Amino acid sequence: KIEIRALRKRFGSNEVLKNINLDVAKGGVVALIGPSGSGKSTLLRCINLLVVPDGGSVRVGDTRFAFGDGSKLPDTKTLARFRATTGMVFQHFNLFPHMTTLQNVMEGPVTVRRMARADADKLARAQLAKVGLAEKADQYPSTLSGGQKQRVAIARALAMEPDVMLFDEATSALDPELVGEVLNVIQQLASEGMTMVIVTHEIAFAREVADRLIFMRDGVVVEEGPARQLIDNPMEAATRAFLSHFH
Ligand code: ATP
Ligand code: MG
Repeated sequence: KIEIRALRKRFGSNEVLKNINLDVAKGGVVALIGPSGSGKSTLLRCINLLVVPDGGSVRVGDTRFAFGDGSKLPDTKTLARFRATTGMVFQHFNLFPHMTTLQNVMEGPVTVRRMARADADKLARAQLAKVGLAEKADQYPSTLSGGQKQRVAIARALAMEPDVMLFDEATSALDPELVGEVLNVIQQLASEGMTMVIVTHEIAFAREVADRLIFMRDGVVVEEGPARQLIDNPMEAATRAFLSHFH
């Protein structure tokens, strides 16, 4: 479960997140949509504290951090442990080019979780199988398609056995014909009950996979609700205007 309260973040004089509240139930899937620069990536990065908020609080599972008003910033070790419980997948896959697919997926379990290599190998192969890439274990990233690389990136995040998965436009760098295979993996995770927050421009996909949708603009939540209802019947003029670009 994720619980964000009164979250604030500024970069210099640019107030990027203004009093954001967000709840994701265990097993829930929330999609974040909104124009470029509205603060979607910053919000996602605040959930795993890749970006440290200026105010408010962030809770994932039983761990809660408060910011601002003299709250002490968590130390790096606490942050690292916390981040390991959230898997994040970005637009660009950032796989290690000198490691095979299997080695990429094993890396986190071995170095961060201190898992024995034999166990990490087994876990990594299971995650590769889950994203449909069992037979690519010994290939290098340069020999994979964009969709396959992104699925390896998802397997790598899953190998940390995270409580929540965060996706930041995981399909926007892909050729159109490769988008579906990555969305299918995300859909499968949703059906298995993974708690997820998904930033996406794939409105039709968000409508299918997310139970709740949040429309952000200029650092505020303009509208939120059940995904289908919000897309089919938006209440706010700004939401309607944004969605009109997609059909
Ligand atoms: P997009 O759809 O283009 O990815 P977004 O909704 O994800 O946009 P953010 O990346 O969260 O938007 O950016 C929100 C605002 O914060 C923008 O004005 C951006 O320039 C600014 N910003 C984001 N990261 C930083 C940073 N590290 N330093 C300074 N400004 C930043
Ligand atoms: Mg972004």
